Amino acid sequence: MEQPTPVAKRIDALVKLQEVDSKLDELRKIKGDLPEEVQDLEDEIEGYQTRITKFETEKKSLDDLAATQNNAIKDHQKLIVKYEEQHKDVRNDREFQAIAREIENQQLDIRLAEKAVRDTQYKIERKQKQVEETTATLEERKKDLDNKKNELEGIVKESEEEEAKLMKEREKRMKNIADNLYLSYERIRENARNGLAVVNVKRNACGGCFNIVPPQRQVDIKEKKKLVVCEHCGRVFADVEAVEVVEKKRTTRRKRVTKKEKEAEEKAKAEKAASKGK
Ligand SMILES: [Zn+2]
Repeated sequence: MEQPTPVAKRIDALVKLQEVDSKLDELRKIKGDLPEEVQDLEDEIEGYQTRITKFETEKKSLDDLAATQNNAIKDHQKLIVKYEEQHKDVRNDREFQAIAREIENQQLDIRLAEKAVRDTQYKIERKQKQVEETTATLEERKKDLDNKKNELEGIVKESEEEEAKLMKEREKRMKNIADNLYLSYERIRENARNGLAVVNVKRNACGGCFNIVPPQRQVDIKEKKKLVVCEHCGRVFADVEAVEVVEKKRTTRRKRVTKKEKEAEEKAKAEKAASKGK
């Protein structure tokens, strides 16, 4: 078995640290989203409370309106009583008719006011229903919030334990890396949006920034005699991921070459030879 080169050991240590750091990043990301979810629910509940307060205010002014309308009816009734008193000592028929008209007018006003009261009463009932329905939804959402909060607290606690474990592991893995290399690793990670300082070459491209890695650099990476970094993003290359399927594709394609294609190929070859001969 071949001995790993010193560079291979350094890269391996970096890969192991990156592994832990990526897990930590993921954990912190999840934890970071949780308070937001609770916040969303709290905002929703606040919205319902605002709506209920608004409905109640509207209902209160409708109640006031109904009271005013009922008072108006009482005033009309009082007037009618007064006019009826006056009816008793009228001096002539003209006065009698005039008072009778007044009474009639008051009765008409009463009927109109009664209709207005019924309308208001209907609006009050509808408002009351809105208050009740929104309150029911609010109570439901409050229960959801309680459940969510409990669930989230559990997850946060769990992720905190996991984080502490990972931090301990990180300490251990960090010790296998020279100070200056660790500093560059941290610097690259800070600038990398995905938090990856160590990547593989995948399909001839940097696994961090996806720029093409030239073949000679890929050879250097595989040899592990020196530390190779991406010339575009500065990430450290750990290895080159093997690309399979290429060979398979070629053989299956061979088989599927049609007669027509063969002829075209031969014709091209002949033309190339002819042009060379000129
Ligand atoms: Zn790159």
